[in-house]
Amino acid sequence: MLLKDARFVLTPGKVLENESIVVEDRRIKSIGESDKKGKVIDASNYAVLPGLVNMHTHVSMNLFRGVSDDKELQSWLEEEIWPLEEKLDGEKCYWGAMHAFVEMIKTGTTCFNDMYFFMDKVAEAADKIGIRGYLGHGMLDMGDEYKREEELEEASRVAEELSENFSDRINPTVTPHSCEICSEELLLRAKELANKHEAPLHMHLAETHGEVEKVLKEKGKRPVEHLKDLGLLDEQFVGAHGVHLTEKDIKILSGENATVVHNPCSNMKLASGVAPVSEMLQKNLNVSLGTDGVASNNNLNMFEEMKFTALLQKLSRSDSTSMPLNEVVKTSSENAGRALNEKIGKVEEGYLADLILVDIDSIGMTPLNSLKSNLVYSGAKVDTSIINGEVVMEDGKVKGVDEQRIKKRVEEISSELVS
Ligand SMILES: [Zn+2]
Repeated sequence: MLLKDARFVLTPGKVLENESIVVEDRRIKSIGESDKKGKVIDASNYAVLPGLVNMHTHVSMNLFRGVSDDKELQSWLEEEIWPLEEKLDGEKCYWGAMHAFVEMIKTGTTCFNDMYFFMDKVAEAADKIGIRGYLGHGMLDMGDEYKREEELEEASRVAEELSENFSDRINPTVTPHSCEICSEELLLRAKELANKHEAPLHMHLAETHGEVEKVLKEKGKRPVEHLKDLGLLDEQFVGAHGVHLTEKDIKILSGENATVVHNPCSNMKLASGVAPVSEMLQKNLNVSLGTDGVASNNNLNMFEEMKFTALLQKLSRSDSTSMPLNEVVKTSSENAGRALNEKIGKVEEGYLADLILVDIDSIGMTPLNSLKSNLVYSGAKVDTSIINGEVVMEDGKVKGVDEQRIKKRVEEISSELVS
């Protein structure tokens, strides 16, 4: 495939102008050459970007869009979300996930990192639509031995299933929920499972003040120290939120080459706090971005997440020079590739061809004084999405799925759930 004469190409080093990209065998073969084998896409009106990577999601929660706003975290969870989750099944999660993938692809996401339930059904939806995914069964035991065994068994089954019966775009992860509701035994065995599959270990980390307090009270140490002492921290560790981290916590995570996923919209909506992202980056801690589930966001638009990342750091630090454009852009793609140890997130030769084409003629992209500034702050319109070298969306239309049917099915399921 040839992306011909792209007006701009966002590479790690600089923004290239009027270059062509050759995609062959799932990967970016070359930048700057014009091999016309296969499909040719005229990219002269587009900026070619690495596909965005949403590093913390619960995609099936698209079913819960708008069910609860203006609630405090604990009552939001206990009174609204948990009762709805009780009613979920594989079919419902399949449609919720499919709905999420259409939304993600339309807003430039080409890869997601998810923890939830009925994950083989979520993987089935991901495989059908063609998005890249990292998926794990969300585990919690609250100290209950029977529940622990059940959760580990399901996590192990899902990981096997995903490794064996799906395409190479679908990857297993191991996902204990958090230190707050997972016992030491569960966390240790989750790490063993992650090691067995050479998979990322993805969990919530220091999301709320309450979580930190509870772990401190029970273990006499903060969540990061607790995880370090258990041996869970390394380059495979992906901690979502990291809102309540001390300087020492950040130093530990950075020293272990771990990753923190920043979710500014969810953190603001649930008033969880402001994650010290600027301090993390100063200490060379890898930071990527996520939306969290739609119930606490309420969308999956990573461009918005980039904007809020920049705005929140600037405002909270009273420093408009913090979180500069280059750093924001890296958190949306490149840093995720590092976290997942996969060649994604960069427009670079040899990298997997997960690419998006942003219309530079849209109202939000003009006048174009700075490509990165417009992308982060002004609203980008994604027209084409290529994942694993395959075109999954062209002219704003996601291929191979019936969008009307997906919306209708999700409407039906959602009203059934809330009734
Ligand atoms: Zn979450």
